[in-house]
Amino acid sequence: MSFIDVVLRVPSYGWQDHEGNLVKPSVKQLFSEFFQRLNVFRDKRNWLTVLSWGKVVCMVPFLLLFISKFFTVPLLIAAFIYSMFVMGTHGTIWHHRYCTHGAYKFRNHFWRFFTQNLTISMIPEEIYVVSHHVHHAKSDRPGDPYNAEGGFLYCFLADVNHQPISLSLDEAQYSRVKSLMKHTGLVPNTFQQYKSWGSYQHPRRALVSWVLNWSFWYLIFFLLGGHALSCTLFGAAGFWAVGVRTFNYEGHGKGEDKQRPGIDFNHADRSINQLWPGIVAGEWHNNHHLFPKSARSGFKPYQIDFAWYYIKFLHILGAVTSYNDAKKMFDTRYSNPKNEVYENAATVAAVRLNAKPAKNH
Ligand SMILES: [Zn+2]
Ligand SMILES: [Zn+2]
Repeated sequence: MSFIDVVLRVPSYGWQDHEGNLVKPSVKQLFSEFFQRLNVFRDKRNWLTVLSWGKVVCMVPFLLLFISKFFTVPLLIAAFIYSMFVMGTHGTIWHHRYCTHGAYKFRNHFWRFFTQNLTISMIPEEIYVVSHHVHHAKSDRPGDPYNAEGGFLYCFLADVNHQPISLSLDEAQYSRVKSLMKHTGLVPNTFQQYKSWGSYQHPRRALVSWVLNWSFWYLIFFLLGGHALSCTLFGAAGFWAVGVRTFNYEGHGKGEDKQRPGIDFNHADRSINQLWPGIVAGEWHNNHHLFPKSARSGFKPYQIDFAWYYIKFLHILGAVTSYNDAKKMFDTRYSNPKNEVYENAATVAAVRLNAKPAKNH
């Protein structure tokens, strides 16, 4: 078994059956797994998933205060922009392109810290990063932590049911987790601490950075617009954290083949380019699966990519020292419609030969 096969904690229903087919758990199985893994009293090593959803629950009072006490149309617009564009784009800049794919490099730790804390923090890095490597290695196959074929809930509850790291890694395997996370700046647990807490990060550090981040942003928003603005944008961040959990299902065509000629060029999996996630967060997901290490995913003129604009802007400032940009390669390969016919023919030929089409990463 390779590292990528064992790095995630296997759900009780397993990834695949004896014939290698995806196990599609029932709704009851999914919720049972979900609540067991959120039971920190049964096993303290469940602390990280509790933190992840605990943050969402903490946002509910802010959202209710916004709706019941502070609601105005300008604040609604602010909530919309913050939850869709700001939080969405930050997730792409930080969790996705930097922490997971190392698509660009910061000049120093200050700019890394600045970018990490550019918004209210919601998603723990290690839950996102390690499992996302598995997603790329096993897209739409058993073991993919948010395999869209498993259904909406399979993806929506994935951060608890399928994304945490395994509790039984040996020291060498845990070292590989450390090497995947090293550049993020998060201080790792020692192997002994990992055995005790089941995670890369120590809960004390996670709690301290959570409290500091939220306190800082509450204060800033309060100074700008009082409790009204603070409650609005905190509620908006909570709203985003729930909404983003639907992306992986939608971004892979809800488990169906929804790729369109002239728009989606990577046929090795079911990822699709969608207008809305692309516009608000730069998540042109089919492009991304073509060139996962690219700091830019919007290649066509209409494919705006705010995450890329931020990275490029930081590069102009000198805060980012280098980045990968696959636009030229994309143009060379796919701007000619004949190339796409060729790509499709190659994929079809590979399927006919009962072989997997070559992955592009
Ligand atoms: Zn994907
Ligand atoms: Zn990715």
